[in-house]
Amino acid sequence: MTSTPESIEDYYARVAAATDDEGRLPVAVEEMPGWDIFPFETESLRIKPLQPLADAEPDRRGEDPATCDCAGPDSADDGLLVWSNDRWRLTIVPDTGLPVVLSLGPKRHMDLPTMPADWAAEFGRLIATISAGIEALPSVGRAQIAKYGDGGAHLHLWLFGRPARMLQLRGSPLLDWEENLPRVPRAVAQANARPIGEALVPAYGGAVGRLDG
Ligand SMILES: [Zn+2]
Repeated sequence: MTSTPESIEDYYARVAAATDDEGRLPVAVEEMPGWDIFPFETESLRIKPLQPLADAEPDRRGEDPATCDCAGPDSADDGLLVWSNDRWRLTIVPDTGLPVVLSLGPKRHMDLPTMPADWAAEFGRLIATISAGIEALPSVGRAQIAKYGDGGAHLHLWLFGRPARMLQLRGSPLLDWEENLPRVPRAVAQANARPIGEALVPAYGGAVGRLDG
């Protein structure tokens, strides 16, 4: 019986042992790649060869708080600010194929593992309110939420509106579809985001952004 958490070397060795002569894993056709929500046909699909372990995790943008965007002047309202108060900022992620893609982040420098408890409590409430606003849109079936944090060290949560009644787009393949969908016009994204921002003001104060231009 294993009593301690596994090392990445042991984890990696198990993955590598499952690859073929070219270092490729088989496509898991019995799993999601075989489901109807998987966006690609599997006959011509192959997985890229497994790369070796990196020596270390790379630094992310803003890893040093002094160089993070949050250390600079507050960004102007560029038509993408949905809502902000003294602690939080909700913005439109532009140029996407989904009805709405939003980014929620704290104004003070922190990542999720370093978030103070009172901020985390408010973060949870905000996520619930924003999710309700996304799912209230007539073009949205479900809100999806993601925290990656591989590119930037400053916490930024992604919230996606999965198009209503397009059942192929359900689940985690949504973002594989998103890349291939035609871009939603900026004015449409702004009109979709406006009621989400307006719903935040009564509970959390602050103000909605301009959402035009
Ligand atoms: Zn920061």
